[in-house]
Amino acid sequence: MWPRVLSRLALLAGGQAVLGVLLGWWFGWPAALLAVVLFGLLLAGLDAWRAGVFIDWLREGELPEAPRLRGPWGEAVYRSVRRLRTLMQQRSASEQRLTDFLAAIQASPIGVLLLDAQGRIEWCNDIAGEHFGIDPRRDLLQHIGNLVREPAFAAYFAGKDYRAEVQLLGRQNTPAHPVRLAVQLARYGEGQLLMLSRDVTALAQAEAMRRDFVANVSHEIRTPLTVLAGFVETLQQLPLTEPERQCYLAMMAEQSERMQLLVNDLLMLSRLEGSPPPDLRSAVDLGELTARCETEARALSLLLHPLGERPQTLCVGPPPDFALAGAEGELRSAIANLINNAVRYTPGGGRIDVAWERLPGGGARLAVTDTGPGIQPEHLPRLGERFYRVDRSRARESGGTGLGLAIAKHVAQRHGGELQVSSTVGKGSCFALVFPASRVLPSAHHRQGAGALAAG
Ligand code: ADP
Repeated sequence: MWPRVLSRLALLAGGQAVLGVLLGWWFGWPAALLAVVLFGLLLAGLDAWRAGVFIDWLREGELPEAPRLRGPWGEAVYRSVRRLRTLMQQRSASEQRLTDFLAAIQASPIGVLLLDAQGRIEWCNDIAGEHFGIDPRRDLLQHIGNLVREPAFAAYFAGKDYRAEVQLLGRQNTPAHPVRLAVQLARYGEGQLLMLSRDVTALAQAEAMRRDFVANVSHEIRTPLTVLAGFVETLQQLPLTEPERQCYLAMMAEQSERMQLLVNDLLMLSRLEGSPPPDLRSAVDLGELTARCETEARALSLLLHPLGERPQTLCVGPPPDFALAGAEGELRSAIANLINNAVRYTPGGGRIDVAWERLPGGGARLAVTDTGPGIQPEHLPRLGERFYRVDRSRARESGGTGLGLAIAKHVAQRHGGELQVSSTVGKGSCFALVFPASRVLPSAHHRQGAGALAAG
């Protein structure tokens, strides 16, 4: 700094000295002194004006309006402009980083709320807004306790131990659509709190389903096991006649068969859930498959309504002129379950129709229609859930495992289709498997026919 000050002073003194000598030589020394003083004042005034312009610009001016000054003030302006430019660039870079960061949190599937040391909302993303019914703009600076009013949350917030999360009901929770949230707080900065919320409804439902499933399986197995254990005890302890023994053994065989059916269905379900969707290349001959299911169903019908009772009428339509791309074993199981159910639930004298049809969009549909008791509308959405039964005692009487429709629904879905149910109480039901056009293939007979025509 000093060299610059000294050189400026030297310039000033030098200029004045030269001016003084020249004026003194021409007009005498008093005039020279006056001129030197006036020149000094002029220079000082010019400097003061430049300083004023610079300070005015620093106070209120914009960067593009930087004054054009000469000398040291010009350099001061130039350096200030450069410094301000660097600062502005740094500021816009940090603003951009903050915007990106907030956009990333906004895009997160987790709800995020930033609370100040008093528990007031400083910022929240849209997901958190949805979870707690908060408006991310209107509710800023509101205390979180005023907006999330569940007692479990109030206790968690007040407890100040935030190592574990707390489970709450979401704002949109209704009995028909439960919404469960897992909420956790974490401290950061100077007493601020980070609040995270996750939608764990699916997880809670899966956990509840798992619990129900284990309870149902245990219950289903316990009943025949208890009966079997009772019979074994009776056989061991009572002196029975041969016909009585035979009768008990037959009942024991029936119970063990029930358990076998249940275990088979459970294995089938677990295979369906754990394996990749069936291949699109293997064609299943539906005529043959339906005929095999028909034979089985007729035998079941005869067993349930022996000769002498009013028989059921089972009508199976003509074999379809198309095949399905899929897994034969799975399709057989699904079709057999629907036809066997119709046989089991339709009383003697009733009628069961089985028919394949082509749908307008190119898909295919198998409809199993019966004149059975029908099902009340409130049960229809739940059919296909494992172990869901409309009438428990009746279902068990007829020898079902409670998994038939779950298997049929799964198989349909794995083939890209769905299980449709319609029913009228007192009139009957229609269970249908609907498959998309992508699964429908020309049948083997058709292909052969086409081949023969082409060869001819
Ligand atoms: P289940 O082994 O008990 O028959 P399913 O999964 O096959 O189990 O069927 C579930 C329930 O749906 C049955 O318990 C029964 O109440 C009802 N259901 C199924 N098919 C019919 C039908 N054709 N007519 C009336 N009710 C039926």
